[in-house]
Amino acid sequence: MTGWLRIAGLGPGAEGMVTPEVTAALADATDVVGYIPYVARIAPRAGLTLHPSDNRVEAERARHALDMAAAGRRVVVVSSGDPGVFAMASAVFEVAETEPAFHTLDIAVLPGITAMLAAAAAAGAPLGHDFCAINLSDNLKPWSLIERRLRAGVEGDFAMAFYNPRSKARPEGFARVLDLLRDLCGSDRLITFARAVSTPDQSLRTVTLAEATPQMADMRTVVLLGNRATRRAGRWVYTPRGVS
Ligand code: SAH
Repeated sequence: MTGWLRIAGLGPGAEGMVTPEVTAALADATDVVGYIPYVARIAPRAGLTLHPSDNRVEAERARHALDMAAAGRRVVVVSSGDPGVFAMASAVFEVAETEPAFHTLDIAVLPGITAMLAAAAAAGAPLGHDFCAINLSDNLKPWSLIERRLRAGVEGDFAMAFYNPRSKARPEGFARVLDLLRDLCGSDRLITFARAVSTPDQSLRTVTLAEATPQMADMRTVVLLGNRATRRAGRWVYTPRGVS
C-alpha cells in the first residue's frame, strides 16, 4: 500500500471554513496527528486512529507522521488555520530535510483559512492594503528580533497581524509591545482584538492604541494593527485601497 502525508489546515474553527480538499483527505486517512485541541476537532470513525500530542513535541510529531506515511499509512497532520502559518508544515519539512528516504514520499500541504484573514473578514477589511504577520511568541526566536520586526513594520507603514500575542508564560511581553507601538505609531492608531473567530465564543473589539490594554488579548486572540490610513466605517474597520 502506498502511504501519503497531508499537512492540512482546519481553518479558524467553523466547520464551514474547512476546505473540501481537507475534508476529503480526512475521509481517506488512516491516521491523524496533531496538537490535542486540533485533533479533538476530528470526528472519530472506524479505521481512523487519532494521535493527539502536546504542543511542545512538534519535531517528534512530525517524525511520527513521516514514519507512518513511509510505512504505507495515509496520514493527515492537522493544524488550526493554515498549516504554513506558525504551524506544522515547516516542522514537517525540517524533519524531512534530514532524511533522504522522506524526500520521495507523497507529501502535500493543504491550505486553510488563517486566523488573520478570518479576523480581518469579521472586522471589515483592516488588512486591505499591504500588511505583514508577526508571531509575538519568543519561544522560537529572541525578543530582540520581535522588536526589530515591529519597528520595521511600523517604519514601512504596514498593517500588522500579531499571532500568539499573550500567554501565561509571557504575561509582560504584550504590554511591552503595546508600549512600543504607542511610542512608534501614536495613540490614535486603530487596533482590533479578534478572539476565537468563527466559533461560538467569537468576540471582536476595535479601540485606539491609547485605549488598548494587555488584558484585551489572550492565546485565542489575533490582534490586527491598522496602518496610518486605517479607519472606521460605522461598525466596520477598514484600510483604504489606495494610499498617497
Ligand atoms: N496556524 C494557525 C496559527 C497558529 S498560532 C493559523 O493559521 O491561524 C496560534 C495563534 O493563532 C493564536 O495564539 C491566535 O493568535 C491565532 N488564532 C488561531 N485561531 C484563532 C481564532 N479562531 N481566532 C483568533 N485567533 C486565532
